[in-house]
Amino acid sequence: PSNTRIAVVTGGNKGIGLEVCRQLATGGGVTVLLTARDETRGEAAVEKLREAGLSGDVIFHQLEITDDPSIARLAEFLRARFGKLDILINNAAVGAGEYVQDPSDSSATEEKVRFTCIFGFSEIIDEKLVYSMLSACVQQLRGLDQRQRLEVMFSGVRETYDAAREGIKTNYYGTKNVIEALLPLLKASSDGRIVNVSSEFGLLRLINNEELKLELDDAEKLTEERLDELLAAYLRDFAAGEVEARGWPLYFSAYKVSKVMLNAYTRILARRHPELRINCAHPGYAHTDMTIQTGPLTPQEGASNLVKVALLPEGGPTGAYFAMGEEAPF
Ligand code: NDP
Repeated sequence: PSNTRIAVVTGGNKGIGLEVCRQLATGGGVTVLLTARDETRGEAAVEKLREAGLSGDVIFHQLEITDDPSIARLAEFLRARFGKLDILINNAAVGAGEYVQDPSDSSATEEKVRFTCIFGFSEIIDEKLVYSMLSACVQQLRGLDQRQRLEVMFSGVRETYDAAREGIKTNYYGTKNVIEALLPLLKASSDGRIVNVSSEFGLLRLINNEELKLELDDAEKLTEERLDELLAAYLRDFAAGEVEARGWPLYFSAYKVSKVMLNAYTRILARRHPELRINCAHPGYAHTDMTIQTGPLTPQEGASNLVKVALLPEGGPTGAYFAMGEEAPF
């Protein structure tokens, strides 16, 4: 039936993505394709949602966003079964850095690893919130400035070149390839929407190179080719140990770069396809596996901030950034 909307959610087997599937299917009138790279995890997630007795349909389809044949199979399934796609939520992503406990460091308790993560976010969230989350640990850090604190805490984060490359490949190129393959189906919808799940870690203010920041904010002049060049340059700088010297974001650097570039790509796409609503959205800091279960929001709350953007009234903004459900500057 053509009045049922079809939605695809990437990385739908857990965390925020799973809750996005649940909420879209609960509202009614939307058939949700919950996708996951792992069939077993994906099927189990669908089963869990069905057991919760949703009003709408939830269908599983395998999707590994870094695998072109997998993307092509999903596109073909959609084409044959529905002939269109109304909502694409690009949620799948990796952290591109690992929290590690140095085995030689006896003080590297689980709590310290959690703390490491929270301090990663203290760059962007209210410091009071960080304090209230782990006040005991904060005692040890009194007297240090923000920069020093970050250095102390990020001694527990390992960012290897391989993880950085994987982060760019998944979060940027994987998402881009999914969009490119599904665009014809989105154009077959009367009201196609894309929500690229971004992050406050993708905000331009985390870039320390003023020229680069201006260039990335010039949505009219940006091109995909230029983004490819910048991503290649970033990886070269990473390999050469020049992330800081070149003004790229620090701490979870590759994750941040992947989201900065995803935001820029979103603006390029929105300009090129004015008949679609193409936006990026920060779900808020939510406790999921990615944040090693830290953060003030539940995955449900994070998801609702994304679903709100996906279901904006017809004729709403496109090429915009939303933070916690509200339009905000890049
Ligand atoms: P999780 O780590 O809990 O979930 C990530 C999901 O993405 C999993 O389903 C994972 O699958 C999937 N995934 C990863 N790589 C691929 C791939 N190559 N192909 C297909 N699926 C893949 O993270 P969150 O739920 O926290 O994050 C969801 C989104 O929200 C991400 O885009 C993240 O960047 C963003 N975000 C999250 C914030 C937070 O506070 N949690 C804050 C800001 C943004 P698998 O289970 O197989 O690994």
